[in-house]
Amino acid sequence: MEQPKKLSRKKALKYLTFGSASVLFAPALFTTSCAANGNRRQGSYLSYSAIFNATYPFSLDPLPYDDDALEPYIDTKTMEIHHGRHHQGYINNLNNALENHSNLQSMTLSELVAGLNDLPDEVQTAVRNHGGGHLNHVIFWNTMTPGGSSATGRLADAIDRDFGSMENLKEELKSASGGVFGSGWAWLAADNGGSLSVVQTPNQDNPLTEGLTPLTGVDVWEHAYYLNYQNLRGEYVDAWLDLVHWEKVSEMYEESLGE
Ligand code: MN
Repeated sequence: MEQPKKLSRKKALKYLTFGSASVLFAPALFTTSCAANGNRRQGSYLSYSAIFNATYPFSLDPLPYDDDALEPYIDTKTMEIHHGRHHQGYINNLNNALENHSNLQSMTLSELVAGLNDLPDEVQTAVRNHGGGHLNHVIFWNTMTPGGSSATGRLADAIDRDFGSMENLKEELKSASGGVFGSGWAWLAADNGGSLSVVQTPNQDNPLTEGLTPLTGVDVWEHAYYLNYQNLRGEYVDAWLDLVHWEKVSEMYEESLGE
């Protein structure tokens, strides 16, 4: 379906300042735009529980910032397509896969992904690709912020303990993301004891399936960066490292410790 011309909230508000004709016109445009494409309305950061404990039917949450908020590191068009189409696609396919499995519909997203290998054969691949795809992207959106932020508390201590420094961790994330052959992700993950590691997953696999809790991760599928960076994955990963919301990652770590 053709999307109507999009109008960001910022631009819609700008229209309001342009004389009476625009005042009459702009709110109608804005309403149409929001109704047709819910991700235009900026949301808020999801809690740890909202990220991991969502259940069927799954739905696309608005981004916690405007589509253009991460410019110039991540361009607006990439955000619109990545969130509104790719991520929505994983959600649709996941819902379709679970539609006729009422016994799985009460499982949380993290239970589905962590327990992937125990699911019925006919849904395993769909949950691996689309359940993972959904969870991976929710974590991705929710652990970025314009300008980035700093690690705090026990995460900051654990980074020093397990990597020596934040700079070393960033080097490991860069190296891991560069080493993904084809499509996949690089993650900062925690084990049950709170030890941190950097891991890669292929395709839309998630560290939960290997018993690790993902705290943040970078999507290195070409759809995440190709419009702006073409083949320069390393430059895109450098940009992502400047956007990581370490304060939110710190909160994720505290929650993963479960105390
Ligand atoms: Mn993606």
